[in-house]
Amino acid sequence: MADTCCESGETMEAAPACPDAPPASCALEAPVVPAPLPVGSLRRRAHPLAEPAAQRALLGELALPRPFADAVSEAGAGPLRAGAVEVLQINVGKYCNQTCSHCHVDAGPDRSEIMPDAVVDACLDVIARHDVPTVDITGGAPELHPRFRDLVAAAADRGAHVIDRANLTAFLMPEQRDLPAFLAARGVEIIASLPYYLAGPTDAQRGVGVFDRSLEALATLNALGYGVEGSGLELNLIANPVGAFLPPDQASMECDWRGELDRRYGVRFNRLYTLTNLPVGRYLETLQDSGELEDYVHLLARSFNAATLPGLMCRNTISVGWDGALYDCDFNQMLEIDLALPGAGPPRIFDLELAQVGGRPIAVGTHCFGCTAGAGASCGGSLA
Ligand code: SF4
Ligand code: SF4
Repeated sequence: MADTCCESGETMEAAPACPDAPPASCALEAPVVPAPLPVGSLRRRAHPLAEPAAQRALLGELALPRPFADAVSEAGAGPLRAGAVEVLQINVGKYCNQTCSHCHVDAGPDRSEIMPDAVVDACLDVIARHDVPTVDITGGAPELHPRFRDLVAAAADRGAHVIDRANLTAFLMPEQRDLPAFLAARGVEIIASLPYYLAGPTDAQRGVGVFDRSLEALATLNALGYGVEGSGLELNLIANPVGAFLPPDQASMECDWRGELDRRYGVRFNRLYTLTNLPVGRYLETLQDSGELEDYVHLLARSFNAATLPGLMCRNTISVGWDGALYDCDFNQMLEIDLALPGAGPPRIFDLELAQVGGRPIAVGTHCFGCTAGAGASCGGSLA
């Protein structure tokens, strides 16, 4: 599932102690008026925003006080550059068993773009030739790719930290019932999307019944040791706001969720990451339809926080598209913003040398304000 994206590959951190007083109700508890879920992907509906160029144009029309690149420069950090590649993030395609309203990938059951064998083999070759610290596999629902397990096994055999970005419900599909045990045997970290710890907001964003099925999958993972202290099997949750606002404080939310998920359902997890919704894909459509686009992007821009810049995921990640194209991150991938490498055309996975893309300038745009707003957002949660 691509609602989430990338983690540093660090070893499991202990969760901070919760404050004595219970955290105040967070913004995610605001009453939610369920919006009708989109009937299929933007692509299937032939919506103009199905085209990345149309998304870029819409974002480019917004009159902001300053472009993102200027905000970075004025903070003394421009132009933004990547460091060494520590994370190979592989997006295996747009096929998913869900059609969530906020999906930046525009994924769904009606999308057929999945990574062909030649690109999977090229990824395996890169993994074999480099000591990539972290291999992070996303989608769509990555587990539903026929060669997902090949990628996991190869990366784990090479000693990489492997991340599966899961939507949870894919684990319940009949042909995937043995997958959690497969992942556990290889020590794969699972980062699972869960918008909220109650059914209403979750189902409003992800589909009727998704919450209950997510709980069933979480129980299966817990039974294998995932999320259980001392097991070494990391189960981290990622939550994104269900409205056009910034996520609340991550540490407070984590404490809140730990108590609620345990008390209500007996579910355990390691860490909770908050993720700001970026105005990309179906979330861009949602903002446009609700008339909130301009205000939301201004909120992101106004909330620019220079302290988030060192931890931006694009600084240590290279993102691989289903067709083998390379990007700075999964969001740039969905907007089809090529790597800003000087010289020849953008490299593809077939000839990737990680040293070639380390230190590159990062291609930025208006959507990047979503990563630097407030406490910041990355595939590993808040940054500052
Ligand atoms: S449709 Fe939902 S579960 Fe599937 S990739 Fe998008 S956000 Fe993730
Ligand atoms: S959206 Fe922009 S700031 Fe965020 S990770 Fe991608 S390139 Fe970096």
